[in-house]
Parts: sequence; structure tokens; C-alpha cells
Amino acid sequence: MGSPLTAPPRERSAYGALSLWHETTPTDWRPRPSLGGDVDADVAIVGAGYTGLWTAYYLARADPTLRIVMVEAEVAGFGASGRNGGWCSALFPTSLGEAQDAAMRASVDEVQRVTVAEGIDCHFAKGGTIVLARSQAQWARVRAEHGDGVLSAAEAGERLRATRTLGATYTPDCAALHPARLARGLADVVTGAGVELFERTPALAITPGKVRTPHGSVRAPYVVRATEGFTPMLPGLARAVVPVYSLIIASEPLPSAVWDDIGLAQRETFSDHRHLVIYGQRTADDRLVFGGRGAPYHLRSRVSPAFDRDPRVFAALHATLLDLFPVLHGTRFTHAWGGPLGIARDWCASVGLDRETGLAWAGGYVGDGVSTTNLAGRTLSDLILSRSTELTALPWVGHRSPSWEPEPLRWLGINAGLRAMTLADAEEAVTGRPSVIARAVSPLIG
Ligand SMILES: Cc1cc2nc3c(=O)[nH]c(=O)nc-3n(C[C@H](O)[C@H](O)[C@H](O)COP(=O)(O)OP(=O)(O)OC[C@H]3O[C@@H](n4cnc5c(N)ncnc54)[C@H](O)[C@@H]3O)c2cc1C
Repeated sequence: MGSPLTAPPRERSAYGALSLWHETTPTDWRPRPSLGGDVDADVAIVGAGYTGLWTAYYLARADPTLRIVMVEAEVAGFGASGRNGGWCSALFPTSLGEAQDAAMRASVDEVQRVTVAEGIDCHFAKGGTIVLARSQAQWARVRAEHGDGVLSAAEAGERLRATRTLGATYTPDCAALHPARLARGLADVVTGAGVELFERTPALAITPGKVRTPHGSVRAPYVVRATEGFTPMLPGLARAVVPVYSLIIASEPLPSAVWDDIGLAQRETFSDHRHLVIYGQRTADDRLVFGGRGAPYHLRSRVSPAFDRDPRVFAALHATLLDLFPVLHGTRFTHAWGGPLGIARDWCASVGLDRETGLAWAGGYVGDGVSTTNLAGRTLSDLILSRSTELTALPWVGHRSPSWEPEPLRWLGINAGLRAMTLADAEEAVTGRPSVIARAVSPLIG
């Protein structure tokens, strides 16, 4: 299969079949017109995921006279923003201190504020996140890290009932939402506010003042790169972030008797304290959506629709869910999909504007981009409008991550890291103690 940026034109319905979220978004997924010639703008934005859309949103609201032109290789919401697990959380991939944490917590509420104000019905429900400890080793780690701030097994069971639960951690700072409804809603709002969005228009090169596409260029003093996991396909950026795939399965809508058994009455997002990331949510229509990492990294940071689906990973996710909730035996799983997220070499997300070149960027969110992109959009708007604000003073602003290693070192290192997380979980299951492998490897892989 070809890369998503060079694939032949898709049928209108093909985008609608990318995921459960795409299928259940009230939009026809017909691409907007492509860019057919040269245009001048005040700000050019490459990529119409949340990063590009939030940036356009705040810029257009701050200064309605700006000419903002977005180019998107496929359609708005094609990438991770349309496909994710829908955790709008205060998580940030690395620890940068209280100011950054506070800004993240505020971002969850800001997403809610805007979606309400703009009438974007993305099924936002702020039920928090519960993360279970389901082995002695997990429980030991959790108590060491969180002290008294943990839930007992009985308290955890008031929110979520899974097998072998010894306790849990809980935070109120997370909402479950419908990702593609948010992405498409934002695209409609920004185009309604005068932002020009050209779809099926891949940027072939980004240089200061110019975005070159197959049939024309956008010239603008500011160019925002908002391409996350797809970034390595752009000239000169092969080692900027790595695309790592996260995969998801979704059940049919479950009867209330099953939910009485499982819990999640507030639509809490959930996980457990294993090393290889898993994440779940109860959707507004009572499905269980459940994802995790574990799919391999592909040599030379390749991104392809073929990598969105991996039967081995789907089977592992299914087995994990049945292990958590035996009541799901016999449940039909109707959807399975995946997509690339972006990881910087030091696992630190960043946002910035180079004033000399006018080139701006945001990304490297790992699996925490749903709310972080909102913070990025507000920050990029302030940077481009030359406003010094609390946001532009945050520690992630202007942070430059080192480049990833050349291949094949990159491939070896990342896949060894992913494998190590699986081994660490197996080690803990056998020993009942926090993993030695994880302690050795986590400084290297975050
Ligand atoms: C399966 C999965 C589950 C996840 N779960 C969560 C979660 O629960 N919570 C959370 O916080 N985060 C989660 N994430 C991460 C989160 O979805 C991303 O961090 C976030 O959506 C990134 O938004 P973005 O706009 O930067 O990138 P994207 O949404 O990937 O958008 C980039 C866009 O740029 C376009 N593009 C790429 N190259 C070009 C080019 N050359 N020219 C023009 N356009 C281009 C792409 O087509 C795409 O539409 C998950 C990610 C995945 C894949």
C-alpha cells in the first residue's frame, strides 16, 4: 500500500471507514477543494489535526483580519486527531514542573469551554481517570510513587470493577470525548471563521516563507508545521520525531447489565499500571473502546495505511480486555484501527517559533496530544502575534529535542524498548516485584 501522502484519490466513503470515530461522525468526509495555484497568506499551517486546527482557531479569534491558509494532505481529522483513544487528559509526556502541569489541567477545561461555546458536540464527559494496580508489583510501585493518595480495592471498585484489583490511582483531570467529532467540529468552526482549508493538498517542502504543494505554493511570513507522526516524511525532518503506532478495538454498544458489572458510570477513562501502555473509555453510546501500544516501529520511520491494522496486536488487546472484564466473553468487537503518534528523542513535547525564519512547530506529544494540542494552539497564536504571556513562558516553549539516531540504530533501539516493556510486565507477573528491566530501560525510552 502507498503512503497516505501519495495514495490515489480515495472514494468519499474511505475516510469514513478509518475508525469507529470516523464512521460515527456526522460528516460526509468528502474532501474540501485542493490548492490549485499560488496564494499569499499571513499564516500558513501544514496539517489539519488538532494542532493545526487549534492554532487556526485561536489566531482567527484573536485577529479576524489575518489571512490563514491550511494545507492538509488528506482531510481534517485524518491523522491521530481523528483516531485516538479520546482521553482529554492533563498528562504531559515528560515532567517539566508545576507551571506546565497547571497549564495542562487548565487545557482540559479550555477544550470543554470552547466546544460548548462553539456548539461542538464531541461527547465531552469529565469523569477523570482511574488506573488500577492489578499485581503485587504494580501495587508496590503505585504506593511508592503516590503514598497515601491511592484508592483501596473497595474504593476503586466504586468506579471500575476489574479482575485482580488491589487498588488504584485516580485523578479528576481527564475527560472522555469523541475524537473525530472534535476534529471535524473544529474544522467547521475555523472555516466558518474565514480560515481557508485546502484538503488533499500535501506539503512537499516547507521552507522559510513558503509551503510548496503539488499545484501551488502558500507564501506566508509564518509557517506552522503541525504534522506530528507524519513529520519524518517531510524533507530534512527524517529524524525529528518517530511515528509509533497505537492500536484500538471497539465493542458493540453494551447492555446496561454489562455496565452495571464493569462500572465507569461517570465515563471515567481507565488503564492499569502495567508498563506497556493500555487505555480505555466508555463511549457516549455505551461501547468499550480499548487501545494500547505494542505494534512494531517500522524501519526509516515509515508511515503507511498498512500499519494501521495489526491482527496480532488486536488479538492481544482483546485478550487483555477479557482478562480485565470476563463479562465481555461473547461480546462482539465491531471496529479495529490504529494510527501513528509522534515521539521526540527526549520524550519532551515542544512548541515554538523561530523568529528569524518564521517557521513554527508543535508536536512530540506521544499519547497525550488531545489536550496538549490545545495548549500548543493557544501558545502558537501568542507567539505569532508577538504576545508575551504566561503561556509563552512555559518550559516546553522553544524546547529543542535532539534528533533520533540514524537507521538502523533507531529501529533497533525503539523496538528493543517496546519489547522491554512487554518483558517488564512478564517479569513482574513472575516475581511480584517492580521490574528491574523497566528501571534500567525507562531513562532511555521515557
Ligand atoms: C491510536 C491513537 C490513540 C491515541 N490516544 C490518545 C488519547 O487517548 N489521548 C491523548 O491525549 N492522545 C492520544 N493520542 C495522541 C493524539 O491523538 C495526538 O497527539 C494528536 O492527535 C496529535 O495531533 P496533531 O494535529 O499534532 O497530529 P495529527 O492528528 O496526526 O495531524 C497531522 C495532520 O497532518 C497531515 N499531514 C501530514 N503530513 C502532511 C503534509 N506533508 N502536508 C500536509 N498535511 C500533512 C496529516 O494528514 C494529518 O491530518 C493517540 C494517538 C493515536 C494514534
